[in-house]
Amino acid sequence: MADNAFTPRVFSGIKPSGGLTLGNYLGAIKRWVNMQGPDFETVYCVVDLHAITVWQDPAELRHATREVAAGMLASGIDPEKSILFNQAQVPAHAELAWLFNCVARLGWMNRMTQFKEKAGKNAEKQSLGLYAYPSLMAADILLYHATHVPVGEDQKQHVELTRDIAQKFNHDYGVDFFPLTEPVIEGPGMRVMNLRDGSKKMSKSGESDMERINMTDDADTIAKKLRKARTDPEELPVSFDGLKNRPEAKNLVEIYAALADITPDSVLNEYGGEGWGKFKPALADLAVEKLAPISTEMKRLLDTPDEIDAILARGAEKAEAIANPILERTFDIMGFVRSRR
Ligand code: ATP
Ligand code: MG
Repeated sequence: MADNAFTPRVFSGIKPSGGLTLGNYLGAIKRWVNMQGPDFETVYCVVDLHAITVWQDPAELRHATREVAAGMLASGIDPEKSILFNQAQVPAHAELAWLFNCVARLGWMNRMTQFKEKAGKNAEKQSLGLYAYPSLMAADILLYHATHVPVGEDQKQHVELTRDIAQKFNHDYGVDFFPLTEPVIEGPGMRVMNLRDGSKKMSKSGESDMERINMTDDADTIAKKLRKARTDPEELPVSFDGLKNRPEAKNLVEIYAALADITPDSVLNEYGGEGWGKFKPALADLAVEKLAPISTEMKRLLDTPDEIDAILARGAEKAEAIANPILERTFDIMGFVRSRR
């Protein structure tokens, strides 16, 4: 079946495993805002069930869930245009994930690089959930028959696994039921790197606060973190090719380009030949200009958590209206007796 037989629908999510970073903003939220409109139905989720794959203090989880929702709202996710909810309020996610645990193969899971990175040397001590998490992610996406998933580069492999699960399910049951979802990974800012180590991505759960820019950081903190960001002694090159083998320099140029909505080459047209002493403060000013209004609005929203909770509740109801019929059809296809209807 052609992929376009499905309603064009976007699904994406962020884990409330800490405060939002510039990586989450550029790689995900900023693009989610742009995808709202007539071309797609948009479904955005605070994926709290994913967060508990590593230990979360209950009070912190509750706070982070509202903070991530506030970050999405403050950035321009409009609950009138998009469905915005937290995953734990729609039980169908966990149910479909179980079904997919029985479709996905161990060999596929063993290839997931993110598990290897997150588990490190201590794989035996990790939760089973951390290992199985891509199967829950496939359920998140396919529960809405989502056709497009805007994510950062780090999630590409998991969207590919989602396609493998959809394909195997369709094949095993002789149906054309689940779409083959496309990852949408375009432009600069798809892989924002750690400010202290250009070989690692910026993460909200990373060890040191100095390695990331948080969406709630104030102007002084942003300026300080960028001033201390690792770079090399050379000046900025005049074209993008000159950033080869200079991961930290490339990262800062790409962040500038993504924030300003221009190409990295345009950034270098302006700053090529300049030193970091000029570029870093300009980048700090730009980041503050873009992030300050968002963090101000986030703080305002977080002062009234009841309003956030009400938006999430309404969103969960709208999400269920799409998700539950798809889950029920999945049960029917698989042969479960459901005589309580
Ligand atoms: P954690 O460290 O807990 O995994 P995270 O910062 O990686 O947190 P996620 O909730 O795992 O955030 O991912 C949410 C979205 O943000 C995904 O679409 C992911 O691809 C994107 N994303 C995360 N980090 C980056 C980054 N450094 N650059 C671009 N996009 C990113
Ligand atoms: Mg992550």
